[in-house]
Amino acid sequence: MRVEDTFARPLRNLRISVTDRCNLRCAYCMPEEEYVWLPREQILHFEEMGALVDVFMDLGVDKIRLTGGEPLLRRDLPELVRLLVAKPRLRDLAMTTNGVLLAEQARALKSAGLHRVTVSLDTLRPDRFTMLTRRTHHAQVLDGIAALGRVGFGGTKLDTVVMRSVNDDELADLIEYGRSVSAEVRFIEYMDVGGATRWSMDRVVSRAEMLGVLGRRYGTIEPIVETSSAPADRYRLANGTVFGIISSTTAPFCASCDRSRLTADGMWYLCLYAQRGIDLRGPLRGGATADDLKALIASAWTRRADRGAEERLKLRERTPLVQIGRLREDPHLEMHTRGG
Ligand code: SAM
Ligand code: SF4
Ligand code: SF4
Repeated sequence: MRVEDTFARPLRNLRISVTDRCNLRCAYCMPEEEYVWLPREQILHFEEMGALVDVFMDLGVDKIRLTGGEPLLRRDLPELVRLLVAKPRLRDLAMTTNGVLLAEQARALKSAGLHRVTVSLDTLRPDRFTMLTRRTHHAQVLDGIAALGRVGFGGTKLDTVVMRSVNDDELADLIEYGRSVSAEVRFIEYMDVGGATRWSMDRVVSRAEMLGVLGRRYGTIEPIVETSSAPADRYRLANGTVFGIISSTTAPFCASCDRSRLTADGMWYLCLYAQRGIDLRGPLRGGATADDLKALIASAWTRRADRGAEERLKLRERTPLVQIGRLREDPHLEMHTRGG
């Protein structure tokens, strides 16, 4: 059975946040000193995630991304990978990680069957990394990226959130670094998502501006024409190097969005900007059958009308989406809980 929402968008892509904990404190995601964490007993076991994934797959999901928080902080993650790759309908299983623990876990993840890895890398400068993340793990991240190639991962991507006057002078350096490690770099516009409490429009470097900077450095940049629901617009430099830009803030792509997000405690969000989620843990632990869950998920998706980023674009005065008080009351509004 396939389901479509009110804009005929299918349910295909599921991002599972396996933990809300993180070992970095990126300025655009977790800038505060204190956080409220999800209660441990509410975190889904792998078998529970697997059971929900079966229901999602019955409704059309065939692409899964593991995220967080920092997914590599979740103990025994390769077990979850093994459980998910055994699902016959799975076409793509990827993970987004900050890379800190990747060098030690890359081999086990590859053996478990994980298909692809995206590593977040905002800077090549250790001092800047420390300033941006309030942690000193830069060398570990680079080791993690190197380990991916060693253990046989292909299709690696490096995601960079570009912030004005923070790392916007490193675009070309990051492209060169990406080429040296056979990874495709994707520049992400700084988004006003929940958790980005220091966001302001003047810190956003737009896709147009990034293309301008890179055009001055590299000459002609050729857009790659492709039809997919993937968020990145891809471009090719004259030397053949390909990179992407995810313009979620200035040119959102809600029209083709087939993504939804499951938090570590089983709340399901139909949009990154959604203020309310649908509790799947309650019914699951309360004895709901697979058919009950399927009916719940299908009915919510059929009613989906979310176009969060497009709606934000229409605002005249744009300030952070959620104020700190509300984030403390409901940590599900945080990007690090919901998964990027
Ligand atoms: N901890 C992992 C990591 O950083 O890769 C996975 C979770 S993180 C929430 C997923 C992605 O969200 C990262 O690539 C991060 O850069 C991105 N992200 C977080 N806050 C953002 C913001 N305000 N604007 C744009 N991207 C953001
Ligand atoms: Fe940074 Fe990812 Fe942690 Fe957010 S969840 S603070 S983006 S490493
Ligand atoms: Fe999809 Fe919401 Fe992001 Fe738009 S804002 S692309 S609807 S998750």
